[in-house]
Amino acid sequence: MAYKSFEEYNMKVTDDVKTRYKNIIEDLGEDTTRDGLIKTPERAAKAMQFLTQGYDQDPVEILTAAMFKESYNEMVIVKDIELYSLCEHHILPFFGKVHIAYIPNGYIVGLSKLPRIVDVFARRLQVQERLTEQILDCINDTLKPQGVAVVIEASHMCMMMRGVQKQNSITTTSGFRGQFEKIETRNEFLKLIGK
Ligand SMILES: [Zn+2]
Repeated sequence: MAYKSFEEYNMKVTDDVKTRYKNIIEDLGEDTTRDGLIKTPERAAKAMQFLTQGYDQDPVEILTAAMFKESYNEMVIVKDIELYSLCEHHILPFFGKVHIAYIPNGYIVGLSKLPRIVDVFARRLQVQERLTEQILDCINDTLKPQGVAVVIEASHMCMMMRGVQKQNSITTTSGFRGQFEKIETRNEFLKLIGK
């Protein structure tokens, strides 16, 4: 087989988190010895490591590895990037879409790198506002474009399943730097992403 996909987990972290999950499940009133739950603490420990792997990844390194000198200086837009993250207040998922645009200033970046840096920041405990800023600042500081824009639209399980139980509300956050601080450039971008 030429291609092998595998996931690696730190054994010590897995063991520690597993023990704690076992306690939590028992504290919630469940029986961790019944069939369906025997391996749940370990699976949950691994799932949480997967969902927070962004702490060990460097988004600047990802961008700089795929920067190319190019004279193109029109708006580049990658829209509808899938987003899955965890809200840091409840450790519940929030998910939606990210739209990114930038205007190059001598350099472009491999298009697949933008979704990758979204993942790096999303796979941490987050709030949508900070996630928006981190993506924005990372592109701005690394690529040094003429401008960058980020819009995130997301649904938060902590709102949908608990609390106010508003099941259809979508939270929108946005940030703009450089040329996108000009109203006409910003409007062109918003129009192109259908806003
Ligand atoms: Zn929350």
